Amino acid sequence: MNNIKTAEILCVGTELLLGDIVNTNAAFLSQRLAALGICVYKHTAVGDNPERLRVALERALDCADLVITSGGLGPTYDDLTKETVADWFGRPLQLHEESLERIRTYFARTGRKMPVNNEKQAMMPRGAHVFTNNYGTAPALAISTDTEPHKTVIMLPGPPGELMPIFKEEVEPYLKSCSDSVLVSKNIYIFGMGESAVDEVIKSIMRDSVNPTVAPYCKEGEVRLRVTAKADDEQTAASMCDGVIEQICASEVGNFVYGIDVDSLEHALVNVLHEKGLTLCCAESCTGGLIAERITSVAGCSDVFFGGCVTYTNEIKQALLGVSAATLERHGAVSAETAMEMARGARERLGTDIAVSATGIAGPSGGTAETPVGTVFIGLSTQNGEEYRKLTLSAMRSREYIRIVSASNALDMAIKAATV
Ligand code: ATP
Repeated sequence: MNNIKTAEILCVGTELLLGDIVNTNAAFLSQRLAALGICVYKHTAVGDNPERLRVALERALDCADLVITSGGLGPTYDDLTKETVADWFGRPLQLHEESLERIRTYFARTGRKMPVNNEKQAMMPRGAHVFTNNYGTAPALAISTDTEPHKTVIMLPGPPGELMPIFKEEVEPYLKSCSDSVLVSKNIYIFGMGESAVDEVIKSIMRDSVNPTVAPYCKEGEVRLRVTAKADDEQTAASMCDGVIEQICASEVGNFVYGIDVDSLEHALVNVLHEKGLTLCCAESCTGGLIAERITSVAGCSDVFFGGCVTYTNEIKQALLGVSAATLERHGAVSAETAMEMARGARERLGTDIAVSATGIAGPSGGTAETPVGTVFIGLSTQNGEEYRKLTLSAMRSREYIRIVSASNALDMAIKAATV
């Protein structure tokens, strides 16, 4: 049994070094390996040069149990990954009949004649485990040492459209079969509490967590805590995760948790609206349709989301939503009063149970001393009344950040309104 704990990712391709392409394969592989409980120690990129590839491979195999390569499996003379790895393992290349047949069929299916040099892709080092490539011609493969210390190299084709599905469909089950334990991860989604505040509260849980481990990840205004447990079977690992999740949800952080394994605020919102049989609409100014865009990205939202209005000027706020001229005159377009009237107008006109709105200054210009860039009002209207949330986001933040966080706050307010 080859119990793989550490890995390095070695991407091959001169295009990477020239900056012609971004190394998305390394990011993808790192995320997937982390979820499998395999620690990634290093990313390396080398050009299509056999000497430098050999040096990089030797160094990576010195440090890690597993090296995953991407690229250099093509049919041309400069695609040398397989040859270099086979040489390191001292295993000659042999024709793999099944792969040759598959490549022939691939060409026949696309109505093309197979060039002779594609036969090279069917040559495999002796003893290699071959993964089927249903998305292109280059089969992926794994090769391991027979003796201690056990080392494995998995070689994947460079195009992400091939690498990603092969990894998910073939390589992940293979790596799981190399391990004598099962790993389960669950994610806690938090909104409205910053990373350092979350860290402060759950410090002790995180410090002591060896199994399960708790790892925080942040994006605009949100924190995700990934809880990962290792055990002999899936059920045990899952209940170990549940124990830690319960502990975290019982702390102050629990007030800001909007879901476990839900993907996003918009998914959590659509779920709760379905669950409670409630309907929603929105009225947007500074978010310019982003709230509606995020909700409509969730499949099945049409039963609960009626629509939204993008009302940028005062005139359109009045004409479409019935915001009063007096409110706009007295309080301005960026105010709690306008936000609430926008939400009320949308709810009454579109006939939903809940409406949310956003009006603010996303910048970089347009701010004043009283209402600086980053001031946003989120309005909420329900059968039970109206309320608002005032955001004072840093003027140093980008326009995009301010719009995203404003939309997130609107989604969060709608979740809370639907939950009560
Ligand atoms: P092919 O059979 O297509 O020649 P290959 O395994 O030899 O595949 P490369 O020739 O190295 O792979 O790369 C093919 C294409 O895949 C590149 O032109 C690039 O578009 C993409 N690619 C390669 N490596 C990466 C990477 N690390 N991240 C993102 N895209 C990549």
